[in-house]
Amino acid sequence: MAKRVFSGARPTGRQHIGNYFGHIMNLIALQEEYDCFDCVVDLHALTTLESTVTLQQDISDMVLDWLAAGVDPEKSVILVQSHVPEITELHLLLSMVTPLSWLLRVPTFKEKVKMNPQNVNYGLVGYPVLMTADIVLYKGEVVPVGEDQLPHLETAREIVRRFNSTFGDVFPEPQAKLTEFPMIVGLDGRQKMSKSADNHIEIASSPDEIRKRVSSAFTDPQRVRKSDPGRPEICNVYSLRRIFTPDKVEEVAAACRSAEIGCVQCKKELAEAIADYFGPFRERREQLAQRPEYVREVIEDGARRASVAARATIEEVKTAMHLK
Ligand code: SF4
Repeated sequence: MAKRVFSGARPTGRQHIGNYFGHIMNLIALQEEYDCFDCVVDLHALTTLESTVTLQQDISDMVLDWLAAGVDPEKSVILVQSHVPEITELHLLLSMVTPLSWLLRVPTFKEKVKMNPQNVNYGLVGYPVLMTADIVLYKGEVVPVGEDQLPHLETAREIVRRFNSTFGDVFPEPQAKLTEFPMIVGLDGRQKMSKSADNHIEIASSPDEIRKRVSSAFTDPQRVRKSDPGRPEICNVYSLRRIFTPDKVEEVAAACRSAEIGCVQCKKELAEAIADYFGPFRERREQLAQRPEYVREVIEDGARRASVAARATIEEVKTAMHLK
């Protein structure tokens, strides 16, 4: 039997190139080999969200992008975290076996406290417990993660071990599956591509929007005039060209170093390649968007299928904990 994979992603609305290569491509590849649960973790989003007004639209836009890109609801269970209420029950039960010291040492918790000392809420501290509950509610055995999330998964494994040693072997210990695609740097050339840094390109953008975004990208600051030789190795446009024009990168590097190509032309070629790459995706997305009820049906079906697994786990947990 195929192993079960649990993947969680916060509802971030229309997806960008970093989401596509860092998450969506993984969902598409994993569904061929594993029994996948692809979850939009809306409750996690509440730990840092100031407003929830766009939450439903963000969920819908994100799932639409997944579906148009090739995540297949026949192969994967696509669900929204809060649509299966057993998650909150398991979160509470697991919190009883989780020492507070384990949660306070998690690096992302420390970072968030530094960034936002006015909003250190209870949910933020308990984030790793909720993440553990997400995985084990569906008996997830494999969790795709980036390097930066390994400490979270280690905490999840510790919570599972603590629960199993106290109440008996109920949960499999989840294993990390490191995602291999390199981090996509944003158009500012400084930080990871993200909406909050406004350095992203949405994959559903029109060719015109893509051109506009790419034309604003940071390049080699030493190239003031077209005749200045460039340094492709430090240029973010070049790193994107490695992905979207792989057969031309050597030529581009040489032309950049000898100042035969200017940044305007180089960006134009990149923008066209990105627009072409996502052309079939845009077409499929437009088709799916004509059926506004489709995304809702997919996530309702996901909740039904996920609930069967969730109810069975909660029964087992309550029996093990002598709560029934
Ligand atoms: Fe970057 Fe291209 Fe300009 Fe060279 S020519 S600095 S690779 S944008």
